[in-house]
Amino acid sequence: MRLNLLGVRGSTPVSGQNFNRYGGHTSCVAVTASGDTRPTVALDAGTGLQNFTALMQGEPFGGTILLSHLHWDHMQGLPFFRAGDRDDSDVRMCVPAQDGLSGEQLLRQSMAPPAFPITPAGLRGSWKFAAIEPGAYQIESFTVTAAEVRHKGGRAFGYRVSDGFTDIAYLPDHVARGEITAGLESLVRGVDVLLHDAQFVEAERSLADAYGHSTIGDAVELAVSLDVGRLVLFHHSPVRTDDQLDALAADIDAPMPVDMACEGLVLDLG
Ligand SMILES: [Zn+2]
Ligand SMILES: [Zn+2]
Repeated sequence: MRLNLLGVRGSTPVSGQNFNRYGGHTSCVAVTASGDTRPTVALDAGTGLQNFTALMQGEPFGGTILLSHLHWDHMQGLPFFRAGDRDDSDVRMCVPAQDGLSGEQLLRQSMAPPAFPITPAGLRGSWKFAAIEPGAYQIESFTVTAAEVRHKGGRAFGYRVSDGFTDIAYLPDHVARGEITAGLESLVRGVDVLLHDAQFVEAERSLADAYGHSTIGDAVELAVSLDVGRLVLFHHSPVRTDDQLDALAADIDAPMPVDMACEGLVLDLG
């Protein structure tokens, strides 16, 4: 499978010369099955979703968007997804079930007047919104495992995506410190690639705890504990400049390859 990292920033998009190299868009990763020429799965719909349209090469999106959770930085790209917002698109969208609401009702909480001019139902094309529970699903050509992860403010899922040969895990917002639950184990154990929350550094521990995130060290420790092949540090702090991310990358000590997620990075796996 192929992963295109389309948005790697946490919390809020940023722009300016200090952020050009790692990129300013918030969470979005495109997943393309081997043999396919276009992606069929989007992990999250942050502002990086705007970059997804170019990967569709003029075609409408036919596939599934898996939302890790409903925080703004993970869904604000939705109304600006041109390959999805057109008459011939065919999109399924999964969000973590909570509060007894449907998927569409959950999205409407931040995507409806007066907060935003249109509702999810106002998107063109065929859209289906599902509130899903943890479990294993066949999604497009992949086996997807969804499990609840520790974060703050609403229910958050991590996802494991497998094509039968290669497994990746996506946990953009997650408190890695603490007990390794069965759910966490099912998501991360032995994956080839783990994309993981690395918003903070040890000196910012109090912020990481207050906002329900991880430090770079937490992410490395989790990757070591669960036998991860390659770690991609994801969801960078919006105040972290390119030079600061370079310096942090140079300082990482881990037994597996570790990458700083970068907007535009393409990972060809398997
Ligand atoms: Zn986030
Ligand atoms: Zn969040």
